[in-house]
Amino acid sequence: MFSATDIVNFLACRHLGVLERDAAAGKRDKPFSQDPSLELLRELGIRHEQNYLHNLGGGKKVAMVQIPEALSWSDAVAETTKALHSGADVVYQGTLEDGTWGGRSDFLVKVEKPSALGSWSYEVVEAKLARSARANAVLQLCFYSDILNKIQDVMPQRMHVVLGDSKVESFAVASYIAYFRKVRNDFLRAGQAPANTYPEPAELCRVCTWFPVCDKQRHMDDHLSLVAGITRNQRKHLGARDIQTLEALGNLKLPVLPKIERIGEAALVRIQGQALLQRNGRNQGKMIYEILEPIEEEKGFAALPPYQLRLLEMSFSISKAMIMPSGQESSTSWARSVSGMVQARVPCTSRSGLLTLLPRSKPLKNSSRKCWIGG
Ligand code: SF4
Repeated sequence: MFSATDIVNFLACRHLGVLERDAAAGKRDKPFSQDPSLELLRELGIRHEQNYLHNLGGGKKVAMVQIPEALSWSDAVAETTKALHSGADVVYQGTLEDGTWGGRSDFLVKVEKPSALGSWSYEVVEAKLARSARANAVLQLCFYSDILNKIQDVMPQRMHVVLGDSKVESFAVASYIAYFRKVRNDFLRAGQAPANTYPEPAELCRVCTWFPVCDKQRHMDDHLSLVAGITRNQRKHLGARDIQTLEALGNLKLPVLPKIERIGEAALVRIQGQALLQRNGRNQGKMIYEILEPIEEEKGFAALPPYQLRLLEMSFSISKAMIMPSGQESSTSWARSVSGMVQARVPCTSRSGLLTLLPRSKPLKNSSRKCWIGG
């Protein structure tokens, strides 16, 4: 059975589905990871849901049915169907199933639109901690609305997200359902097609259980994504010219003729220099860096006011969110000291790479010199 998360993940990373399929078939082991920040997010999410429940009905009594998590899947589905037929005002943690598809929605809220259930029907409400509704949330709402359509024999008119600041954003189901069904069909087709994917870095990698596996593969392949600051598009166009590895990019002789499509001269010089520096650092087995001058005063973090720079430096020092499961920082290509006018490219993306540069600046309490990082 597939869930809304499977479809959302499929959009974020095609490789993930392949790994999951292999794991389900016993062809590979799934890494075990325990991320305390995810547990914290889960707790905050539950509190957010409770808060929404508490404020539902604006002081009036609401007939709410909660489907206990402890129930078996089939019992939870049966209890949800029973609650929908009984006309409960709200079904919390309703468990919905339609053949291949199934999942637990946050809330199913009764509206006065007749359906096969009676003179009422239901719409889906999901609680999200974000401040604005993301595409993922809308796909998830479509997923549950489509199953609900089968149960009540009428498509819900709207679907809703309760945001982190308690505002509710509503969407017309008819505006999104066709796109959702296309994505869902693509997902099914991809599951039947031969696996031909690569672990291209994606935003999802930050929280993905498979990160150690994918990261190892990229390092084994010396994949271009290891070059700090390189974009996916640049990788694609370099690949079309058979430049597939960090080593190959570092060895590239400039200028390249004919020009590489869609990579400007300055960008090519920058990523080639970065690849060369990383390759040299790797070969020499030590952190090396290169001073870049002149500094561009109004670019990147240099455009931020001082108090934001301080926050940035502090968050770098204390934030675990920037640390990948392997212990690596997210992409960091240079470090700079504002008044010291030092900008440098570091050969790797690790915290230790940055720390080799920090002694060039005075500590944070000296506000005349500050250090920060950027990619
Ligand atoms: S770690 Fe990244 S590339 Fe690998 S499966 Fe997860 S999201 Fe995809």
